[in-house]
Amino acid sequence: MFLELRSVTKRFGGVAAVDHVDLDIEAGEFICFLGPSGCGKTTLLRLIAGLESLDEGAILLRGSDLGQLPARKRNFGVVFQSYSLFPGMTVARNVAYGLACRKWPRREIEARVDEMLDLVHLRDQAGKYPHELSGGMQQRVALARALAPEPAVLLLDEPLSALDAKVRETLRSEIRDLQKRLGITTIMVTHDQDEAMEMADRILVMNRGRIEQVGVAQDLYRRPATRFVGEFIGRLNVLERERWGDLLPPAGDLSEALLAIRPEHVRLLAADEAPAGPVVEGRVRKVAFLGNMTRLLVEADAGLVEIEVHGPLQQGEVGETLRFVLPGEHLSAVSAGPR
Ligand code: ATP
Repeated sequence: MFLELRSVTKRFGGVAAVDHVDLDIEAGEFICFLGPSGCGKTTLLRLIAGLESLDEGAILLRGSDLGQLPARKRNFGVVFQSYSLFPGMTVARNVAYGLACRKWPRREIEARVDEMLDLVHLRDQAGKYPHELSGGMQQRVALARALAPEPAVLLLDEPLSALDAKVRETLRSEIRDLQKRLGITTIMVTHDQDEAMEMADRILVMNRGRIEQVGVAQDLYRRPATRFVGEFIGRLNVLERERWGDLLPPAGDLSEALLAIRPEHVRLLAADEAPAGPVVEGRVRKVAFLGNMTRLLVEADAGLVEIEVHGPLQQGEVGETLRFVLPGEHLSAVSAGPR
């Protein structure tokens, strides 16, 4: 295995910010650590970078324990959220910095800087200072600087969250293309599920220092292991069997107390439709038109349900009563917490 996290644990005071995390990362993989603020994702990245020390567990690179090896000896490239370029150095000198520290010969440094600036499309900005560049450009310089010394692993700590939406979109695909082209093993921390789903080979969803689920985006969306994952990746109606029992279609192996269904899978019934299974009635509380779809919040006796309708909406004024069904094939059992 390329990079292994074994029971990685970090406590601040008495509290475990990272709590016995196990993970295998293959060479060339792009992994996202995804989770809400405070879940421990940044701490986990900093532990890998060597910027924090482990309280328990081990981190292995190609089978050898990184132990107490300090950050600068790990040969990991790191990019932070704030651009953290050296303000008094030109773009070229920023990119050259790590190479000069490693005592590369001048000629090789120059060639490598050119190569890196080509890679991030900033060759013509080499002589500029950071303050003369846009945020997106600065972040591309930071990327070039991190990649220049041929790091074993690239670590990205919310690198796009300070940028505006359009630039973020462009950089998402630029970073992903670059990563694939170089084949560099990459870990990115983000709290943005869209970003994680678009960029990562696999996503690790964290909550309170622990892994809730690791998997490819499709699996996390279609088969969330826990309620937390289901609600964090996309939107989810969580129905307590106790309240919803009679309104659910007969289920075979759905033995959990909580059942879940995505808003787009709840099916509104036309006025004259009479399906075979149970029908739920509810009153529309909210309507949000979102361009490609409309999202309704509907209050049934058993609780609130979100329904997303793609295409034109035939019914659904606030206060109106609607009928809908919860198709059995889209209901899944979710556990309340990590298994
Ligand atoms: P955010 O996106 O807000 O940075 P995060 O998921 O990256 O959140 P961490 O920054 O890893 O979370 O923090 C996890 C927990 O550890 C939080 O409760 C945080 O307050 C705590 N923590 C992190 N660093 C320290 C520190 N140096 N000293 C004390 N507590 C810390």
